[in-house]
Amino acid sequence: MLIIKFMKKEDKNTLPLVAICGRTNVGKSTLFNCLTEKNQALVSDISGTTRDCNIGVVEWSNSAFNLVDTAGLLEDYYLLEKKITEVDIESQTQKQAKNYLEKADLIIFLVDTKAGLMQEDSKLAKAINKQKKYRDKTILVANKVDSYNLSPETAQFNKLGLGEPFPVSAASGSQTGDLLDKIVNLLDKHRKHKKTEEDEEESIIKVCLVGKPNVGKSSLLNAILGYERVIVSPEAHTTREPQHTDIKYKEKTIRIIDTAGISKKGQKTKGLEKPGILKSLGSLEKADLALLVLDISDPLTHQDLKLVEEIVVERRKSLIFIANKWDLVEERDTKKWTDYLYGKMPFATWAPLQFISAKTGEKVSKILDIVLEVAENRKLKLSDSQSEKFMKRVVKVHRPAKGKGTKPPRIYEFKQIKSNPPAFIVRIGPNDNLHFSYIRFMENRLREQYNLLGTPVKMKITQNKKTHTTYSPQKNKK
Ligand code: GDP
Repeated sequence: MLIIKFMKKEDKNTLPLVAICGRTNVGKSTLFNCLTEKNQALVSDISGTTRDCNIGVVEWSNSAFNLVDTAGLLEDYYLLEKKITEVDIESQTQKQAKNYLEKADLIIFLVDTKAGLMQEDSKLAKAINKQKKYRDKTILVANKVDSYNLSPETAQFNKLGLGEPFPVSAASGSQTGDLLDKIVNLLDKHRKHKKTEEDEEESIIKVCLVGKPNVGKSSLLNAILGYERVIVSPEAHTTREPQHTDIKYKEKTIRIIDTAGISKKGQKTKGLEKPGILKSLGSLEKADLALLVLDISDPLTHQDLKLVEEIVVERRKSLIFIANKWDLVEERDTKKWTDYLYGKMPFATWAPLQFISAKTGEKVSKILDIVLEVAENRKLKLSDSQSEKFMKRVVKVHRPAKGKGTKPPRIYEFKQIKSNPPAFIVRIGPNDNLHFSYIRFMENRLREQYNLLGTPVKMKITQNKKTHTTYSPQKNKK
């Protein structure tokens, strides 16, 4: 058995949620009390006695869940569909009940066998059935089956379209153990399903194409999709322009975000002007990695630099430079162009650079391989001992330089605090001051030792465990 009593409030909040709903007087409070083994709800035959939502924790066969009694608040069957805007208390409590139903992992739809099928039951069931998000997680429970000969009566509820009703008697507790078994089983299935979905979503590499107008984003998108034919977007076969396009590549799913915003067709159908560059950055939020498309036949501008800053400094996304229109360049000297580009952006020399021509298709096929590599690097995870070893080696090679302080600073701890993208803390003494160039030196050593191509790295300096300064490569340009 779990020791719920000793669980912290936060832990209780992470338990799955089961909500009881149904018209007034079907026995929601009685069932709630029976399952939580507490007599905390005011049980009455008078319609609408319980006006607030009760929440309790239920423990059953090594599992636990939160149970909420929506307490007759959902008698208004329109509630599931209508927007609640009124501010009176009644509406607010109804809104709360609706929120619980939305959040719930499982809904118990309770009906009253003795009273029989009522119009309100049908209306509420209809509202639930209308929306998949509710229907898929609802089980039908027929209450007040106080004696065996009432069992056949439950068949009338089949009409509700919510599956076979599960008979119980909340008042006597009969069959409630079996109901709990069923609930725990369903929650377990639900949890596994959710976990698989989350893992799948997590493993998708989310990429977005950014760049000034006319640099060739749309052409590049077409070239990538034309080259890589295995498009698995759920929306691919609809007439609508897909928002995202999923590509299966070397066993991985790469999602190109906001493809509708990039393609010309999408822009025309929406009747919008070509979106401004900063506007198009909206899609960056949902991405892990940005392909910054540059027109190599044109000089770099302030806008390009601004975009890099937005990508790596403001949003800490991984970055790949795509130098497009390579076919237009006469002097195809990659070394010269690389020096030129990195010279303009010394704070992003860790981002790979690929020369391509979206028009001829030259080197476009290389892009997805680089995407896979960069996405992998972003997930770098160093154990505490690896980090410590690294820090000791670095300090041995080059002792920390003195900042404003009078004595050389001492690094007490170097530790990874986040992955995807990696972030580290550098803990120094309370009166120490570490020069930013040392942090940059550490970052460079880190990049030498581990493959961090394309990935921004964050280093936070902490003093006495309090955050003191955040090192930002942009602010400390060479
Ligand atoms: P977007 O605004 O960034 O989506 O740019 P488009 O994809 O619409 O391209 C703008 C113009 O550049 C179009 O006329 C394209 O045909 C042209 N273009 C795109 N990529 C290339 C390329 O690799 N080489 C050449 N020569 N032209 C290109």
